[in-house]
Amino acid sequence: MASLISTLARIVFGQPPELTCRREVWRAGIDELRHRTHGQREAGAFLLGRRGKRREIEEFVFYDDVDPNALSTGIVEIDGRRLGALWAHCRATGLCVVADVHVHPGGHGQSHSDQANPIIAEVGHIAVILPDFATGATSPGGIGVHQYLGNKRWRDRSRERPNPFHIGWWPG
Ligand SMILES: [Zn+2]
Repeated sequence: MASLISTLARIVFGQPPELTCRREVWRAGIDELRHRTHGQREAGAFLLGRRGKRREIEEFVFYDDVDPNALSTGIVEIDGRRLGALWAHCRATGLCVVADVHVHPGGHGQSHSDQANPIIAEVGHIAVILPDFATGATSPGGIGVHQYLGNKRWRDRSRERPNPFHIGWWPG
């Protein structure tokens, strides 16, 4: 109920979000990410959905399902040759990568490597970072929301209120 009220308040007073995810989809995805860190390594996922006026996350595709070695060094590294299956899945479902998420051991700021190696190097793409191996904050306000500007430059939108990323129901 509290989340419905916050959604309604935002519809009336706030900026519409750029990225949304239904609460149950986000919770289930985060639980799975937390599990995959084993409390000691980074984990992450492509966030698939549809593009319209806003982008809605519908599915998590975990990096270690795309590339079994993606997490083996402790930080996320995906072999580009493994991405064919992901693009085939996107073609088959009509979904596309609307954002990405990964887990950090500590804070939710981007590492130098995160900034230098965008998972999807597309202007406007949002990279979400969950701090503390996803055992702490998992909602906008307490997590990293970084938007790609192109040319290895990013805008940190983590602290914006209202946040460009909204978890919960959104109309239309
Ligand atoms: Zn990172």
